[in-house]
Amino acid sequence: MIQTQPTKPRPQAPVATMKAFVMLGLERTGFAEKPIPVAGPNDAIVKTTRALICTSDSHTVRGAIGPREGLTLGHEAVGIVHALGSEVRRFNVGDRVVVGAITPDWGSEEAQNGYPSQSGGALGGWKYANIKDGVFAQYFHVNEADANMARIPEGIADEQAVYCSDMMSTGFMAAEHGDIPIGGTVAIFAQGPVGLMATAGARLRGAGLIVAVETDPRRAQLAREYGANLVIDFRKEDPVARILAETGGAGVDAAIEALGADTSFEQCVAVTKPGGTISNVGYHGSGEFVSIPRVAWGVGMADKTIRTGLCPGGRLRMEHLLRVLEQGLVDPTKLTTHTFDFDEMPRAFEVMDKKLDGVLKPLIRFA
Ligand code: ZN
Repeated sequence: MIQTQPTKPRPQAPVATMKAFVMLGLERTGFAEKPIPVAGPNDAIVKTTRALICTSDSHTVRGAIGPREGLTLGHEAVGIVHALGSEVRRFNVGDRVVVGAITPDWGSEEAQNGYPSQSGGALGGWKYANIKDGVFAQYFHVNEADANMARIPEGIADEQAVYCSDMMSTGFMAAEHGDIPIGGTVAIFAQGPVGLMATAGARLRGAGLIVAVETDPRRAQLAREYGANLVIDFRKEDPVARILAETGGAGVDAAIEALGADTSFEQCVAVTKPGGTISNVGYHGSGEFVSIPRVAWGVGMADKTIRTGLCPGGRLRMEHLLRVLEQGLVDPTKLTTHTFDFDEMPRAFEVMDKKLDGVLKPLIRFA
């Protein structure tokens, strides 16, 4: 006979909680109290020190990737290692680290096939504020910590390193995917934070002619500082006609779409020479289709490659970008137009969401 004993309620340790900034509902955000995350054997918990708000956080709150109610927002952050799983080998508690916005599952088929950002399916490496809580919290969780975070060198400030997680990684990827020949030509449509880092990336890649398309005077000025030879104001002239004229009618080796709009995408196809690459890095956040201009595309036979990609993550990628900072090759902190304390997050988010006051990137300071 089986004897059962009444189960006694066991006393439980109180769960430590933290403050997080979350999506409450469609176009609604606010603070919530959440448990401090716990590290599995291969994971880390990082105490956030600095974060950046991204336009894609606004897309999420507007419903671009479907309902994400209750999810902590944010994916660009640096911090201090607070806790480590038993299998993590490369880090110690107290290390200052940058974590990629994209944190792939490195054992996945996609990662092994060379596309870690797509691990587990399209965009699967994008976990923060997509399939798990993001980094706008006092602490955040890092999967596969040995592979997904990098120690920040002593001479690099948190305010600099935080740009590695997404803006530098994504912007530079746009130039890398464009496969710009040394001395070659590139046109970059839109000079928001990613477009500006694409311009800086094109300069690092040794482009001979960098044409930026941008109407905002402050962004146009930054484009020149990051390496653009020419900035075309699309409100004053037709960028396609001007880019073709500047290249003797040939078109550019690479056109980078850094806006996520139909018009700029079509213009990218139109200004790319046969054999060239349209490197898309823009987030096409609305509409059902993206259209390709048929004739400019050589009715599908002009050897124009459309290349897409999601921000590369991983320790090695972060280490490369940190080296760019260490060598002083690019100063991403010019993008920081505003600084807020974490308590001021609602205001910071509004400034970014409504693009108030000439905002590029709002930096968030954690206590
Ligand atoms: Zn971002």
